[in-house]
Amino acid sequence: MTQRAYNFSAGPAVLPESVLAQVQQEMMALPGPRASILEISHRSPTFKEIIGAAETNVRKLLEVPDNYEVLFLQGGGRLQFSMIPMNLLTNEKKSADYVLTGSWGKHALKEAVKAGDMNVAWDGSDQRYTSLPTNDQLALTPAAAYVHITSNETIQGVQFPNEPEVGSLPLVCDASSDFMYKPLPIERYGLIYACAQKNLGPAGVTIVVIRKDLLQRSSDTLPIYLNYRIHAEEGSLMNTAPTFAIYVVRLVTDWLLDEIGGLEKMAALNRSKAKMLYEVVDQSEGFYTGHAQPDCRSVMNVVFTLPSDDLTAAFLAQAKECNLTDLAGHRSVGGIRASIYNAMPLAGVEALRDFMVKFQRANQ
Ligand SMILES: *Cc1c(COP(=O)(O)O)cnc(C)c1O
Repeated sequence: MTQRAYNFSAGPAVLPESVLAQVQQEMMALPGPRASILEISHRSPTFKEIIGAAETNVRKLLEVPDNYEVLFLQGGGRLQFSMIPMNLLTNEKKSADYVLTGSWGKHALKEAVKAGDMNVAWDGSDQRYTSLPTNDQLALTPAAAYVHITSNETIQGVQFPNEPEVGSLPLVCDASSDFMYKPLPIERYGLIYACAQKNLGPAGVTIVVIRKDLLQRSSDTLPIYLNYRIHAEEGSLMNTAPTFAIYVVRLVTDWLLDEIGGLEKMAALNRSKAKMLYEVVDQSEGFYTGHAQPDCRSVMNVVFTLPSDDLTAAFLAQAKECNLTDLAGHRSVGGIRASIYNAMPLAGVEALRDFMVKFQRANQ
């Protein structure tokens, strides 16, 4: 078998090796149906057990209160950019507030304005999305239907360490690239969503955790697939669910519970992994330059630049020879992006740290 690299891809991204091994082992046939997960009905008892366990695991890991629904949807993070305004705007609340801390927030806004007039509560573009607003810098609208934030901007590597203060407005959060990296106070959110392919599983499923009272806003005139209330009423089985992706999310959440030991432990591990890389950046005397300001830099996506494009190209080529892959930054920021999601092992981050130190010594 091909030797596995340490894969720093931003998404689809690294999965726990034990999960991949179990998927491989069970691929030909699951014990009950004696057929593959790819071959069984989404309404079979076996799949109902799988989706039920996935939901139970999410609820347990995040201590999701009973007044929230956990939905498993398709369409990725991007479809949520549209579903959120389509469901949450009402005749009384015709606009919402968007906090722009990077590229994904901007994409979310671009879809939202198709459903109503949106208000930009803060925009970090003039600092090239390197910082976060303070609570008093947020220009919130008292009548807003909700406030949208992106907890972790995957491209710029800018992450909220805590939820911003939005009073009684429903906080809506795109957590696509950091969902379950740490425990969350779910009761602070009206809705939080994440596509799976960064931190939770394969592409194909998006998890939406929504406060039940907000489901009353979903209008019957919406296309059936775009209606949160119907997905909630049908237990995410209104139509054929993305069965394989949900099965892998179940295994990844089993791994978080049984092998990692819960989200407190996961958070501690993630923080020590990120610290290891940022220390090299901070001690490099300007050879490596972090993109985000230190108080908001991401624990998931470590984004930094080198002194020249030639050095960046050499860094990427030599890293690949050392079995460290997919480190190129997004084209809009350049440089290096090391995505070190939950499933990136400590050994992978240690190998990258050692490579960064050696590369600087050889090229300074
Ligand atoms: C990747 C990503 C998305 C887009 O998700 P898709 O599943 O490709 O639609 C949205 N938001 C954030 C923060 C992301 O990192």
